[in-house]
Amino acid sequence: MRPKVREDKDETARCPFCRRFLKVPEEIKTGTGEILGGRCECGAVYVADPTGHNMGEAYLDALAYACGGDWSVCNTLAPDERYREAVYNYDPRSHKLREPKDVRRDYSGKIIFVKLDKEC
Ligand SMILES: [Zn+2]
Repeated sequence: MRPKVREDKDETARCPFCRRFLKVPEEIKTGTGEILGGRCECGAVYVADPTGHNMGEAYLDALAYACGGDWSVCNTLAPDERYREAVYNYDPRSHKLREPKDVRRDYSGKIIFVKLDKEC
């Protein structure tokens, strides 16, 4: 089941780094398992956590995916030095993003973006 993507709405998911429209997250096999996410044309990767309950895991998955699944490389990265990250509320049914501070809507899902400043 794929949510309908409407690209004419401002809330439609966009990459926080380049503002390109995001593709709907897909199941991707990685070295550490399966993730629900994707990769933007600018090099940013994103991992969706539809429940919002596995944020830590999704974050590590996003990092590993950004690093090509090489954990030894990931472990050498320090936040704000080698990569940037962003977390948004995410509604997988409508494929929309909201700032985390917006609690008016009951979007329990989260989406995590990681963009490496340089390829590693
Ligand atoms: Zn992007």
